[in-house]
Amino acid sequence: MTQIQNDDTGTIGVIGLGNMGLGMARTLLRDGCAVTGFDLSVERQADAARDGVTIVASQQELFNACETIILSLPTARHVTSVLIGDDGLASCDLGPRLIIDTTTSEPDVTRELDAKLREIGHVLVDAPVSGGPAGANSGQLTMMVGGDDAAFAKAMPVLSVLGGKITHVGPVGAGHAVKIINNMLVATHLLTMREAVELGKAAGVDTNHLITALNAGSGRSAISEVNYPKWVLNGQFDSGFTMGLMRKDMRLAMALASQKDLTLPVSALAGQIWHQSAEMLADDMDFNRITELNANTKTDKAGE
Ligand code: NAD
Repeated sequence: MTQIQNDDTGTIGVIGLGNMGLGMARTLLRDGCAVTGFDLSVERQADAARDGVTIVASQQELFNACETIILSLPTARHVTSVLIGDDGLASCDLGPRLIIDTTTSEPDVTRELDAKLREIGHVLVDAPVSGGPAGANSGQLTMMVGGDDAAFAKAMPVLSVLGGKITHVGPVGAGHAVKIINNMLVATHLLTMREAVELGKAAGVDTNHLITALNAGSGRSAISEVNYPKWVLNGQFDSGFTMGLMRKDMRLAMALASQKDLTLPVSALAGQIWHQSAEMLADDMDFNRITELNANTKTDKAGE
């Protein structure tokens, strides 16, 4: 693990101490950083305090105390409110701050926020992540980073503590575009893997044998290699990523395609199935539960 020189970064702030944010805070603490945190939820504050995070009573207190601020929030709306809403960072009279937004957010919103913050001297990089709570807790996240070269270099000491694989994918907003595309694939692969298992069963093949063989073949994906063995086949469904967040990501991918006038028929059908799953699978359920939907019924419905 890369040790951060605390003289360089000072106390690191984390806003949003949920499944991902708290994992990242723990990783930074283990690396020897001082970490200050803020979350609207009292339970999340208590969990973080137990793990050694210094909890402050307001986001302004955190902005004052930290020159580097990591965001791990549900949506672009939450990020906008924290950065430029009432009592947001932009309303505080402060020296330059480095904002690392790990939220799965919206490229256009990120670019607008960057322009506003840049005018008052702050630096924003979008660094959304893949790897779930396990990756956040172990400092092995995959990070797709958007920002100019100087911003990326400035963020790198912190990113390298949090991430195992870090790719600078382009200017600000590019990280969020790549993350949305990644999750469009994950959401679609879950549906195609569900159909593969169903077809395997119908053909009389044992599901464990099917998956072992697929994982040695070219049809494999993270879904066949990780999700099915770890969360689906054993009925655990405890990945730490929810239906609500994955539906958000599919919605963002479909919105991005439509904004760019692109027709993506396969992904669009997957998007419809995810959208309609809200009738059966609540927002707080594990996202792998999509594999439990009746494939035939939903496919017919989605085509209506
Ligand atoms: P989560 O719901 O567990 O955590 C979000 C936290 O933000 C909550 O504790 C909530 O109280 C807090 N919050 C909301 N608004 C706030 C505000 N204004 N100020 C302070 N705190 C606020 O979500 P998560 O699973 O940790 O995901 C966080 C982000 O990371 C999402 O954008 C998600 O799409 C993305 N992501 C999640 C995973 C995963 O496996 N969970 C993986 C990759 C990316």
